[in-house]
Amino acid sequence: MKKRGSRAVCALLAVLLLLSACGAAAPETATGFALDTVVSVTVWGGEEGSAGRALELCGRYEAVFSRTLEDSEISRINRGEDPALSEDSEALMALSLDWAARTSGAFDPALGAVTSLWDFHSEDPDLPDPDDVAAALARSGYGRVALAGDRCSLSDGAQLDLGGVAKGYIADRIGEAIAAEGAAGAVVNLGGDVLCLGHKPDGSGFTVGIQKPFADAGEVLLSVTVSDMAVVTSGVYERYFTRDGRTYHHILDPETGYPAESGLVSVTVLTPSAADGDALATACLVLGPQEGMALIDGLENAWAVFLTDSGEILFSEGLRERFSVRD
Ligand code: ADP
Ligand code: MG
Repeated sequence: MKKRGSRAVCALLAVLLLLSACGAAAPETATGFALDTVVSVTVWGGEEGSAGRALELCGRYEAVFSRTLEDSEISRINRGEDPALSEDSEALMALSLDWAARTSGAFDPALGAVTSLWDFHSEDPDLPDPDDVAAALARSGYGRVALAGDRCSLSDGAQLDLGGVAKGYIADRIGEAIAAEGAAGAVVNLGGDVLCLGHKPDGSGFTVGIQKPFADAGEVLLSVTVSDMAVVTSGVYERYFTRDGRTYHHILDPETGYPAESGLVSVTVLTPSAADGDALATACLVLGPQEGMALIDGLENAWAVFLTDSGEILFSEGLRERFSVRD
């Protein structure tokens, strides 16, 4: 059983090492564990304590968006209650339903009945019963979500799971909070969802590594340098278990209820908004190389690097012209 934590720690270290190697002047860093992963915030030229304050927002948003914490707004909707949504839940639900429609449901925020049958946390998890998967799938799907203003309801027993987009959304909100305090630059890293704001004091951008799939955590295949851009990765190697020689990973195909088998092992999306990048990375991993790249190339402000299961590296149109890529 592979845990995401170790990968995230190493990804974080890779980013921090790259940052320190560039000789930036005294940034402030705060690191912790939240949202089921390692999280960190590094701020240049901010007010004292800015990184720590920003990191605290992870816990506050987790209390709202979690599907496992009983009192969260999402859990209350899943239980059939009708809470007045906070502005953040309303915004995240609207954004999620929008991406679900634009990805033909490859990204689906109403897969909770299916995702909860899968256990990617235990050391030796059981496979779900195929009949249970089929039954859960039959009552899932974003078409069963009705969002009207600050009210959200579900039909047929569908359940919300915003795990494929929430970290990106939270990274964006943390970025706003840091910018509001007047920082010159910041890197927000929520377990591999990396939002880079502004620039370092010397005017240079931030270099973010893309993990080599299934290699030792922290082994970087290539890196991109960005500013004011999110770099969000979804990988099948992030959480998985192996049973009878087959690998089962945590990104599910909404058409089958089983781990996506699209030919992609990793998708890194570059977008100004980490929330958009998060939804897109999950969707592309389901859609596969052709449909996924067509989706990215059709968007004005999104670029991507896909890694295929045969070891190919695919770049979206214009990525290498716009960003500095190194291997
Ligand atoms: P990570 O959370 O590891 O960064 P993702 O952003 O791809 O990776 O999100 C994966 C999580 O999203 C899963 O753990 C599950 O909660 C949820 N999920 C799985 N498949 C889908 C899907 N097709 N659409 C939306 N959410 C999904
Ligand atoms: Mg995602």
